[in-house]
Amino acid sequence: MKTGILTIGNELISGKTRDTNASFVARELYLQGWQVSVIMSVGDDENDIKSGLDHILSLSDAVVITGGLGPTVDDITTAALAHAFSLNLYTDVTALKHLKERFQKYRLPWTENNAKQAVFPEGSETILNPVGTAWGFTLKRGRKIIAVIPGVPAEVKRMVPEGVIPAFRKEFAQEALAIAHRTIRLSGITEARVDEALADVDFDALGVTIGFYPDFPEIQIVLSARCSSDTEALEKIKKAEVQVTARLRHYIFAYDQETIESIVASSLTNKGLTVAIAESCTGGLITDRLTNIPGSSSFLERSVIAYSNQAKTDLLGVPEEILKSFGAVSEQAAILMAQGVRTSGKTDIGVAVTGIAGPTGGSDEKPVGTVFIALTDGSKSFCRHYSFRWDRRRNKIIASQATLIMLKRYLTGELEHE
Ligand code: ATP
Ligand code: MG
Repeated sequence: MKTGILTIGNELISGKTRDTNASFVARELYLQGWQVSVIMSVGDDENDIKSGLDHILSLSDAVVITGGLGPTVDDITTAALAHAFSLNLYTDVTALKHLKERFQKYRLPWTENNAKQAVFPEGSETILNPVGTAWGFTLKRGRKIIAVIPGVPAEVKRMVPEGVIPAFRKEFAQEALAIAHRTIRLSGITEARVDEALADVDFDALGVTIGFYPDFPEIQIVLSARCSSDTEALEKIKKAEVQVTARLRHYIFAYDQETIESIVASSLTNKGLTVAIAESCTGGLITDRLTNIPGSSSFLERSVIAYSNQAKTDLLGVPEEILKSFGAVSEQAAILMAQGVRTSGKTDIGVAVTGIAGPTGGSDEKPVGTVFIALTDGSKSFCRHYSFRWDRRRNKIIASQATLIMLKRYLTGELEHE
């Protein structure tokens, strides 16, 4: 089965909004083993929508459309499709009820133009929207199927796996082989080195396809197998995974949907350990990521953003002389920051990061991207020196990543043996 994607919105073709829906949808389709023949974007213009869709239908059997299902006059996707196929529009009472209930629940004033979001071309089947107002729909044209969903990325992320994929699978049931995937997430290694490390593995012979997805600050390897049974597909994936793990163990930090913060959070919770964090160059990013995990209050006691030297002295007790003689970006400062925050928070673990995010502030001795990350548990202290090579924002992101990975390695006991 060949598939195509049409994203609709003036904001996309003017370059105002990056088309993240297209890449998300493409990846979801690919994971089902369906080839994506074409991805296209058009503005909120009826003629462009029609001719774009015509072209996509000439190349594919199933099409996913996102965008233009909202209540405003510029949201014309539904009407454009109805005109294109000469179909009448009807109001779906269930969708309308859902819509009105949602407005009540969130105390939003109801205006009549919202009813537009419960209008569908005749013959279509609705796709429930669990996280927003506009429902989607599927429409069959001969042996082809078109799925239409709103453009809001958070809604796309739910409606594709929960509504669109099941509808496509049902339609193309005869092609539905068992399919299994495994996402292996790596950090601290370049794509080229991953490729090189796996060069001797014959994935074809293992019956597995491999895809690389760099998604800063990580690289994802996706293994996929399509077979006649689930067990067989899983077995193949398992064998390939053993090969990947054997070569890249050191860089793997998570699998599938896991994130480094979720792993650290559950490990701290399970062990009943508490942590205090002192952040300098990451400006609170580590804390932001950890507090995205529900229940973080059970392990995170405090975080201190100690940006200036004065703050490092006042809030963390790092002696001025140390900052003067070694600098704020040094192993000595990092360890004292970790010890200081641990002492003031009375926690099991203290973590600290200090570095130069750039673009200025670097020197020959300590260039931009120099980062020291320290961890202490009261009896032992560890410090790692990194030289990142990115711009300011990405240096912050990768420093937060490295810190969380260091925390994870401490919790698994690996840090001690590095
Ligand atoms: P709504 O019912 O919320 O109005 P809609 O279907 O009308 O949904 P749009 O108005 O097209 O959706 O877009 C809603 C939001 O989603 C906008 O902020 C838009 O920038 C964003 N968006 C739309 N399409 C994409 C896309 N392809 N990639 C990333 N973001 C998108
Ligand atoms: Mg729009």
